[in-house]
Amino acid sequence: MPRTAAYAAHTAKAPLQPFTVERREPGSRDVVLDILFCGVCHSDLHQARDEWGNGIFPMVPGHEIVGRVSAVGSEVRRFKPGELAAVGCMVDSCRDCSQCRSGREQFCERGMALTYNGTEMDRKTPTYGGYSSRIVVREEFVLRLPEGLEPSAAAPLLCAGITTYSPLRRFNCKPGDRVGVLGLGGLGHMAVKLAAAMGAEVTMLSSSRAKEADARRLGAHAFELTRDGAAFKKLGGRFDLLVDTISAPHDLNQELGLLRPEGTLVLVGAPPEPTPVSAFSLILANRRLAGSLIGGVAETQEMLDFCGKHRIVSEIELIPIQKINEAYERLVKGDVRYRFVIDLASLEGR
Ligand code: NAP
Ligand code: ZN
Ligand code: ZN
Repeated sequence: MPRTAAYAAHTAKAPLQPFTVERREPGSRDVVLDILFCGVCHSDLHQARDEWGNGIFPMVPGHEIVGRVSAVGSEVRRFKPGELAAVGCMVDSCRDCSQCRSGREQFCERGMALTYNGTEMDRKTPTYGGYSSRIVVREEFVLRLPEGLEPSAAAPLLCAGITTYSPLRRFNCKPGDRVGVLGLGGLGHMAVKLAAAMGAEVTMLSSSRAKEADARRLGAHAFELTRDGAAFKKLGGRFDLLVDTISAPHDLNQELGLLRPEGTLVLVGAPPEPTPVSAFSLILANRRLAGSLIGGVAETQEMLDFCGKHRIVSEIELIPIQKINEAYERLVKGDVRYRFVIDLASLEGR
């Protein structure tokens, strides 16, 4: 298979720059995608800068991939050349353990194959993500894009969408529930749209006053500024469910105080530093603190179909790949409305 044009971080300190990767020749169950668009997740930045301490370099980030099928292996039945298709945060798993069989491939007992910053299941071959012109993926890990969704704006559903859809479903978000979303970035704006579509009464809790009008336009019924702490007093004991998407360290005890008895705070934001939690924040009202990691393959397809039905896509700023380092700087400042998506047509040598 010809060498594939890409952008990579060569070290945690280096800006991303042009790079080429070898993609494997497609096997009988593989799908080859010519990548059209790839979303820019804050996890790309955490990993490219090795903030989580697990970086494998050179690293080609990108796990919100939409492309056109250019070839399929002889046994592939679900995809045909010319169709649009998508790939999210995983490209394989053992497909056989109890977690995989129950649709939770992200918890595969042998370890999933991450789309990038990981290895294939042979545990030797490095995986490279969507900041590239082409990817080769096992059929089982390729998703179908519903008709009618704009491909560039649908790309962020593959991580931001599923990462917020999965906990909303797991904690039974339903009409009338009071749901709070913390942090209005890529994940946060999807959480607002999805919770509103599920019928919840959604409150946006943001540190940015300038995002209020957007929050309401996205579907939030209320907006509270979290900077001065007054919101935490005013809204104490109010929420059934809180979805925390904040990428930087912050006070979880304050947030837990917003929950009604038996309410749940679910963390999806992944700041690198640990945060202390007082036992009393949980004990005094039987509150629950939970985490959530992306979602399984079937649930990701379910989320895409839900978004197709409700016409939900991401609000995006389309960028050429040459602007990726600038986009990372803006992400650090919370200056994103609300997802950067790379137009891979800009990648030279594709
Ligand atoms: P993003 O677009 O950069 O959004 C993060 C938002 O957090 C910002 O827009 C900002 O919202 C808020 N924020 C940032 N710094 C803050 C600070 N110091 N204090 C208070 N609020 C702050 O990031 P994203 O792509 O949505 O990702 C969010 C987090 O989720 C990242 O840590 C990412 O790694 C993680 N993630 C986890 C999973 C998973 O499976 N669990 C999957 C994908 C991503 P406001 O301006 O509204 O305050
Ligand atoms: Zn992501
Ligand atoms: Zn498995």
